[in-house]
Order: sequence, then C-alpha cells, then structure tokens
Amino acid sequence: MVDTTLTSLGLVEARDALDKKEISAVELTDAYITAMEKGRGLNTYITETTDLAREGAKRADENLAKGEGKPLEGLPLGIKDLYCTEGVLTTAASHILDGYKPHYESTVSANLWRDGAVMLGKLNLDEFAMGSSNETSFYGTAINPWRRNGDDTPLVAGGSSGGSSAAVAAGLCAAATGTDTGGSIRQPAALTGIVGMKPSYGRCSRWGIVAFASSLDQAGPMTRSVADAALMLRSMAGHDPMDSTSVDIEVPDYTAEVGGSVKGLRVGIPKEYRVDGMPAEVDALWQQGIDWLKDAGAEIVEISLPHTQYALPAYYIVAPAEASSNLARYDGVRYGLREDGKDLIEMYQNTRAAGFGDEVKRRVLIGTYVLSAGYYDAYYRKAQQVRTLIGQDFDTAFESVDTILAPTTPTGAFGVGEKADDPVSMYLNDVFTVPANLAGLPAISVPAGLDSQGLPLGLQLIGKHFDEATLFRAASAIESAAGFTAKPTVWWEG
Ligand code: GLN
Repeated sequence: MVDTTLTSLGLVEARDALDKKEISAVELTDAYITAMEKGRGLNTYITETTDLAREGAKRADENLAKGEGKPLEGLPLGIKDLYCTEGVLTTAASHILDGYKPHYESTVSANLWRDGAVMLGKLNLDEFAMGSSNETSFYGTAINPWRRNGDDTPLVAGGSSGGSSAAVAAGLCAAATGTDTGGSIRQPAALTGIVGMKPSYGRCSRWGIVAFASSLDQAGPMTRSVADAALMLRSMAGHDPMDSTSVDIEVPDYTAEVGGSVKGLRVGIPKEYRVDGMPAEVDALWQQGIDWLKDAGAEIVEISLPHTQYALPAYYIVAPAEASSNLARYDGVRYGLREDGKDLIEMYQNTRAAGFGDEVKRRVLIGTYVLSAGYYDAYYRKAQQVRTLIGQDFDTAFESVDTILAPTTPTGAFGVGEKADDPVSMYLNDVFTVPANLAGLPAISVPAGLDSQGLPLGLQLIGKHFDEATLFRAASAIESAAGFTAKPTVWWEG
C-alpha cells in the first residue's frame, strides 16, 4: 500500500514534518519505495537504488535526532540518469554506456547529498538528452501519469527529462533533477503539471553531467511547487572549480522570494511568441497569466524579440554541432559497450553503429556536416551569429522589463508514437524554450491550467542573467493565482 499522505508531501512540507518529528525519513523513503514498485509501469526509473536510499534515510534520521538536519535532510529524490553517480550505473539512456559505473559523483548530485537528500534511483530520459518525448531512450518511453478525458491512450511525459517529470507528477519521488539544453526541464514539467526551473548558464556546475551541447546544458530542479524548486536549486547551485563555466557569485536564499510581492514588477509580453497555429487555449492561458500578474500589481509591457523565428533553426545547428564533438568520446575503448572488429577502426564503427540510436546518429551526422570545411561558414558560423542577435534581443528587452512571460509549449502532452516519425514536428516543441538556452538566461515553467482534454499546460517566465530570484517571486504569484491542484489520472491511492 502506498502511503499517499507521505508521498503527497512536497519538499518543504516533508522537511517541516521531519523537523517536527511528525514523520521519519525512513518512513518517507519506504513510502516512495512502495510507490516506485507500484509505478513501474510508467517506466520512470532506469535504476532503482533502494538500498542506498534506505541507508541514506537512516543516516538522515540520526542527523535529525541530533538536531543536525541539513536543508534537504531525509528528502527522497530521483536523479536524471545523465548525472554521474559514483558506483551506480549511469546510462544517459544509451546502449553505448552499457554497464558504465562512474568512479566519481557529479558536483550537483554531490551538493544534494551534502545537504542531506536521499537518492531513490536514476531516472529515464531521451538518449543523451536528445528529444522531447523520452521516446529516444534505449530503455523505452517514460509514460505520463496524465490521460486525456475519457481516453486511455498512453501519453508522453515530455523530454528529455521525461522520467523525472513523470516520476515527480506520479509521486514516485519527492522531486527530481533535470537538465535543460533546449527545454528539457521546462517542457516535460509543463506536460506533467509540475514546476521546472532552468537556471542561468553557469549557475550549476556541469561537472560529472554527461555532456550533450556544452554551451547550452544546465542542471535544474523539477518539483511539485515553486517553493520546492527554490529550496532545491539553492543546494544544487554554486561555483565549482571543476567547471570553468560555473560562475563564482553568491547563491541567494531563493526561498525568501517565494510569496514575495510582484507590485511594480515589469513583465514583458513578446509579440513574436504568438506563433501561427498555436491553439486558442494556449493563447487564452497566456492571457490569463497576464491578467493574474496584472491583478497582483505587475506592470505589463509589450516587447519585441525580433529574431525569435531564427532561434529554433540556430539551435538545431549549434546543439548537434556540439553533440557531434562531445559524442566522439564513445568509441568502445574506455567504457561502455564494445563491439569487436578486425581492426581498431572497425571496432569504433561497430561500437558506434550498435551503441547509438537513430536520433543520436541523426544529430552526429547533422553536427559533423555543419562543422565540416565548406559548410562551417554557411551553417555553424551563421547560427552563432544568430545566437548573438537573439542574446541582444533579450538584452534590449530587459532594459525595459524585469521578466518575460510566455507559454512553455505550443501544446499539451501528445500520444506515444504520435510524433515519433516526424523529427521536425518534434523539434517544434521547443519553439518557446530554446531562446533562453541560446541566451543563457534562467527560465521557469509553472503549471497554470488544463487544456480542453484535461491535460496540464504551463506558463514560462524568462529572467535576466543570474536573476532567478525574480523568477521565483513571479512564478509563485502565478502559482497562487492559478491554484493548480489537479492530480494526474494515474495516482496510487493506497
Ligand atoms: N528537445 C530538445 C532537443 O532534442 C531539447 C533537449 C534538451 O533540452 N536536452 O535537443
């Protein structure tokens, strides 16, 4: 039986109950372990680390008994299987990393354990985080716990952090880590009715996180509330000498921002985000968000981000280019899969042919092509120039506004298989999320309502560099106005 009184608690609530000794960390972890067993049909975990979790919970109870509870003491988390975890299988959802157990821990996960959190397991994702639906995972698709009204079709939980989003939404962990290269925290959060925060590039260390596109990748929290995201990011963030792009600036107390006033906050509405073919209900929800912030005292300002239409094409050049070079290291020599061949070159070829899935191969091909002599100037250099212009659009906009409000995704969750054969329609999922990655800006998705089929939709706030604090304040204003309490269809009641 799943004790949903325990698995319904968010991080902040659970931490409070632990402090007051109303619950124990062992009880809380055990409730999640039972939920994970019942929820295996959703395919959210690639690896369950229940023994580690129980040990961690026991240690947490000892610390709490001594009055030495740290900020996340005893809170059970799922970790996207892109983060290296010492001695624990780390797959990036790729066949090529078969059997790979890292000898080190990623900085971000190490920060979470330093602050007392407990690891339940490693969560499913698109292979090497390439995708928007988790369907490119070697381990199969993670399933969204939500269903359309009166329709039992299995839906995707978004991607690439689809295991994380489905697990958080279905109560199979209290919160999870994600990574966001072009939307992989925010889009799956929106499609499952949870909060997803992509911090500024440089806020969290990338050390020990399997690289996809190094100039875009960022780690971030996926949680059931804005307050939980604020609590978790504070632990995840911080300077790390092991990542030369991690920034040495103070990490504010984000929790203090939650529930803060947005009176006088200038909120920009980018006219270029009203894309053709956007469903009327997404537009209506955006308008609703504008009204909520206005009612809370914010000032709404129409802005222009003129190069928005070029963001997606530029992203789908820059990201594959970086991926093709990052993925060159998987050659069967040092770790993971090895397929023998008559010589070294054939061994490389056989290993990579067997180890990578179709989407990864597509990206390696595109990336290698756009970086090749003769095409570099036409594609890669152009994309980099567009990227600069997109960054400048935001710089200009942020002269007159403090944050930008937009939808997170153009649609709600779609059915498993519905877009799998159409890469371009899959890539369109990222139309509203990619610009923040190209510019390195922080952005958060908050569940704001349901579509006509009863599926969650999210609103996104984009902020100035390293101004996550304002995002938490504005996001919590939307969260309280939206009063989103709907629960997914698949939810274990006892
Ligand atoms: N869907 C995007 C892609 O496939 C974003 C992925 C991500 O953010 N990791 O590249």
